[in-house]
Amino acid sequence: MKLITYLEAGKEKVGVLTADEKAVRPLPYADMLAAVEAGIEALTAAEPGPAAALETVTLLAPIPRPRQDVICLGINYAAHAEESARYDKALAKDRPIPIYFSKRVPEAVGPEGFIESHPGLVQRLDYEAELAVIIGQTAKNVPAERAAEHIFGYTVLNDVSARLLQTTHKQWYFGKGLDGFTPMGPCITTADEIAFPPDLAISARVNGQLRQDSRTALLITGIADIIAELSSGMTLLPGTIIATGTPSGVGMGFDPPKFLQPGDVVECEIEGIGLLRNTVK
Ligand code: MG
Repeated sequence: MKLITYLEAGKEKVGVLTADEKAVRPLPYADMLAAVEAGIEALTAAEPGPAAALETVTLLAPIPRPRQDVICLGINYAAHAEESARYDKALAKDRPIPIYFSKRVPEAVGPEGFIESHPGLVQRLDYEAELAVIIGQTAKNVPAERAAEHIFGYTVLNDVSARLLQTTHKQWYFGKGLDGFTPMGPCITTADEIAFPPDLAISARVNGQLRQDSRTALLITGIADIIAELSSGMTLLPGTIIATGTPSGVGMGFDPPKFLQPGDVVECEIEGIGLLRNTVK
């Protein structure tokens, strides 16, 4: 199933895309978090309402208002570790263990929504295409071999980053948690449709130019180990979003760097999930 959150006649709904992905059928849940809590089996059994053509609705981020901060991994693809170290050694010197940080998201940006450039505050605006995992069942002390059972699905997330804020302040929280810095979508593909661990093409284009082009199988710390490690000391509730890190090809990785400017169109895409297109304003 591909699940979306959308506005129809001003009302927020959760629905399932039809097989041709040209229409949506509403599901009887108040929001995506309620649908996640219900679980894939219940959603499969639910009788969706009548189809509405996608062009008649407005897509929102699949989880527009995450319950908690998004948990993120930094430097989790080897080629991105190399480009980050070239940009600023402090970002990626020896990292034998995962870097975890979180991203504040009062409201996620939907497909076709805007990335805020924060003029005056942000000088080096960057993009990061990432595979995001949505936790389904509460995860506590989950061994790696059972991690997949706790995943509800996957979405595409752009971990928009203000590089100067990120490196000036030693913590990444401010530079990655600004308003309008977390586009997500277009949908959640449920975990039953993607073989585990996911090996999916992941890419990012800016104004049509291919910048990132990799596969999600190249994560340094894989999803099973991430869930096992985090859940060994932290309860992961249904609806928790984990952004698994970005491959090489971000703006700071180029010489000279290619940072984003107002008007730029950023497209992040993952095979089997879809295309997330956002414009910088
Ligand atoms: Mg990132």
